[in-house]
Amino acid sequence: MLLIYPPVAKPCEPPAGIAKLCSALNHHGISFTVLDANLEGLLYLLNFPPGSSDTWTTRALRHLSGHLDSLKSWEGYRNGDRYRRAINDLNRLLKMTSCASGVRVELANHEDDTLSPVRSMDLIRAAENPEDNPFYPYFQKRLTDLLKEQSPSLIGFSLNYLSQALSTFAMIGFVRREHANVKIVLGGGLVTSWMRRPHWKNPFQGLVDHLVAGPGEEPLLSLMGVREAGDVPERPNYDAFSQKDYLAPGLILPYSASSGCYWNRCSFCPERAEGNRYHAIPEDRVIADLHFLVHKHQPVLIHLLDNALSPSVMRTLSMHSLGVPWYGFARITRHLTDPDFCHALKRSGCVMLQLGLESGDQNVLDTLQKGIQLEEASLALKNLKKAGVAAYVYLLFGTPSEGLPEARKTLEFMVTHQEYIDFLNLAIFNMPIYGPEVEQIETEAFYEGDLSLYTGFDHPKGWNRPRVRQFLDKELKRHPAIAPILRRDPPVFTSNHAPFFCDERTMNDK
Ligand code: SF4
Repeated sequence: MLLIYPPVAKPCEPPAGIAKLCSALNHHGISFTVLDANLEGLLYLLNFPPGSSDTWTTRALRHLSGHLDSLKSWEGYRNGDRYRRAINDLNRLLKMTSCASGVRVELANHEDDTLSPVRSMDLIRAAENPEDNPFYPYFQKRLTDLLKEQSPSLIGFSLNYLSQALSTFAMIGFVRREHANVKIVLGGGLVTSWMRRPHWKNPFQGLVDHLVAGPGEEPLLSLMGVREAGDVPERPNYDAFSQKDYLAPGLILPYSASSGCYWNRCSFCPERAEGNRYHAIPEDRVIADLHFLVHKHQPVLIHLLDNALSPSVMRTLSMHSLGVPWYGFARITRHLTDPDFCHALKRSGCVMLQLGLESGDQNVLDTLQKGIQLEEASLALKNLKKAGVAAYVYLLFGTPSEGLPEARKTLEFMVTHQEYIDFLNLAIFNMPIYGPEVEQIETEAFYEGDLSLYTGFDHPKGWNRPRVRQFLDKELKRHPAIAPILRRDPPVFTSNHAPFFCDERTMNDK
């Protein structure tokens, strides 16, 4: 079996979903090969002669190996300006190389002027014309060689982000055309979201043999002839992944202590709308898994992938030192108002928490059922700062209960807490196409594509996207208290690289 992670996604850590499949296949003695075509494909494009010799591109090409080396060392994170230059130069090279195929590829982006990843017809067209894809010269040779060497009976593609969709289908089309007998399985987060849409009908029949929603371990095992999967190990297996090529100063180890969300109450949350059930790995196993993986792979950072770390798993983590810094998403709960708890988190290695605050207006928070009290949020931010845990705060503008006055309250909250916020992510609300709350809102007859997960809507307060965007661009982003926080955000890699900018190993010998 061949497992493929297609381009384009941030090339900074191995894909966790495939690592879990590796574990299940190993457990049942099924041989497999893993291809991180995202990492390999991006490195291939970066080393391909760009179609332009303008000054910026020529300089970027001259510094290519220096930039790659620096992003793979602590040195690359010691100077924000140098880091930004490296990222911008890599993006420039990708852009100038891919524009020859009429598309725009960057380190976490793939856009095509004529094909949309949310239209099934366009994905089918990408499959029919794989040679139009910017990664074609890479995957044509790589897949041909691998298929010759390994003769897999089945190829699994893990499709998680829209930026992977066009290349996934181009690769599928190539395999279909050249190796018609190989079975193709398609799964991953994006495929799960498609298949959980009401009235879902598979538009890819004849192209993809099996579509998988949710965890792929059991369906894959069953396709490989395992009748009783039994207890499939949940600990991911990263043995098949490169330890040195990802853009990070060492291995970032992704790990999920749970799937679904323990809170599962926020309105408009896709996790809830998709009906993903909460499943948590027992806490003693989480600690044992992490100790095992840390001992085996010596990562420089643990990335906890949970939608929200439950307070009890955080407490367990706080009582164990993993010897490696970790970060992840947490809800703002009263636990974080306890300074001792925040200090214990720090001692256990917690370098950064991602906090979905969403709004600085209590009514908006209550309507969204976030379960957040602003007084608690204020205390939590102060405690985390005192403990030395960085706060990466997520805000969401344009939700149905927000208008300009509420958005201004959010700005005010940010301004009064500026010294406690290390990084800030600003997002504009997208109305999911389905979910319990959507029926109460007037949605627009807006058609982006049959695979789109979002729809337009009439904002009850007239606080529509152009007005929100104007507020963000003209007022919030320019505010002297907010602009420096936004400037700190690592471009492209954002929260994936942010912990390196707060890490003592970056700060040392500055
Ligand atoms: S905490 Fe996050 S994942 Fe959980 S319900 Fe709220 S938005 Fe969804």
